Amino acid sequence: MSEQDGAPVVTYEVRGPVAVVRLNRPEYTNAQNSKVTYALDAAFTRAVNDNDVKVIVLGGNGEHFCGGHDIGTPGRDIDQSFERKAVIWYDHVDKEGVDSRFARESEVYLGMCRRWREIPKPMIAMVQGACIAGGLMLAWSCDFIIASDDAFFSDPVVRMGIPGVEYFAHPWVMNPRAAKEFLYTGARLSAQRAEALGMVNHVVPRADLETEVMATAERIAEMPRLGLALTKKAVNQAEDLMGMRSGMDSVFGLHHAAHAHNAEVGKDSLAGLDARGMAAANKKAAGEGDEA
Ligand code: ZN
Repeated sequence: MSEQDGAPVVTYEVRGPVAVVRLNRPEYTNAQNSKVTYALDAAFTRAVNDNDVKVIVLGGNGEHFCGGHDIGTPGRDIDQSFERKAVIWYDHVDKEGVDSRFARESEVYLGMCRRWREIPKPMIAMVQGACIAGGLMLAWSCDFIIASDDAFFSDPVVRMGIPGVEYFAHPWVMNPRAAKEFLYTGARLSAQRAEALGMVNHVVPRADLETEVMATAERIAEMPRLGLALTKKAVNQAEDLMGMRSGMDSVFGLHHAAHAHNAEVGKDSLAGLDARGMAAANKKAAGEGDEA
């Protein structure tokens, strides 16, 4: 069933103590529109509220985990309002310029990813194929990543004149020098290289990805709920003491200076690059291959 036929943009299933949440726009490389981020938020809330769920797995249906934020599918919905479950900012609709853009990105990008990172249950990202830009934000919001051997990661938004995606975890999930090369080039980071840099915990054959992730999730689920929740908070607090939270706040301002600059001097806040334009530019820079 396709999206046009009413398929849900996010699927949810419970297998024993594990909730499996999957992006479900495979025909658009699971691009995230607001409908998707609110559906993810609802799915995670459901998993948190279910006392029988101990661990959450986040994956994507189809060839790719996630090709990024929706900057060009028929389901792009940046002008729509959704019911906000948590107050992060005011609604962006019927506002102009930064008043709208900052509100929307505070809510559906940085704000939601931060809240998801704080979910008091372990979360594993199960990544195959492309994990690009906004896709990184989802994978990085999880506690760790298990990737298939064909997975690759990239953040090419510097091509828009913007210093990386809104959830700016790059210097913390890999080392700062690797983060600079990753951002400066926009090039694909292979699963194997991502593992060597510590960004990915394990790389497994594509055919074994789900089995390996579920085995890890079930092993984690044997630990006591409170022990897991407090341990997650302990590591997150340590990460924030390494400056991640305040670093992200400072970079979010730079990110919006870049969007505003683009809108001021060009035709839109994305430097005129839609999904097709980005894919073509990335392909040209790589000198070969297909860019998701
Ligand atoms: Zn942005």
